[in-house]
Amino acid sequence: MTIGVNERYPAVKAKGEFKNRMRRANEVLFLVGSKMTLEQLQKDSYRIANAHGFYDDIPEEAKTDSTFLGSRLMLMVSEFAEALEEIRAGVDPRLIYYNTNKPDKPEGFIIELADAIIRVADTAEWLGLDLAHAIKIKQEYNESREYKHGKTI
Ligand SMILES: [Mg+2]
Repeated sequence: MTIGVNERYPAVKAKGEFKNRMRRANEVLFLVGSKMTLEQLQKDSYRIANAHGFYDDIPEEAKTDSTFLGSRLMLMVSEFAEALEEIRAGVDPRLIYYNTNKPDKPEGFIIELADAIIRVADTAEWLGLDLAHAIKIKQEYNESREYKHGKTI
């Protein structure tokens, strides 16, 4: 199926076809997501990133190198910037869409959020960190905190 031509956001111009593709994508993502644990997410994210060369030639010492870790953090932030660009372009943040120039690549606000989480997860796995444990103890602490954690927003 092709949708639009030379349009960054073909959904705006081809809503009928787009909705069908979006629904199919959401069904697939739901099935995958419902079976995935954080531990598995970490392992899969690192395995895929490593297989694509993102950890090639990175020495063990990089795990405690603030400059290298800073660059990893900026890559995570770059995914949030991409999410911002999606909503700045006026695309409904609830949609997943496909462009004709890369018809197999899912796009959209939620895909960029997924990219951010994937980058966090692969970095955590590489560092040997347990995200599920960290989230659990932080959530327990957050639950005990005051209204808005004592802030205005
Ligand atoms: Mg991205």
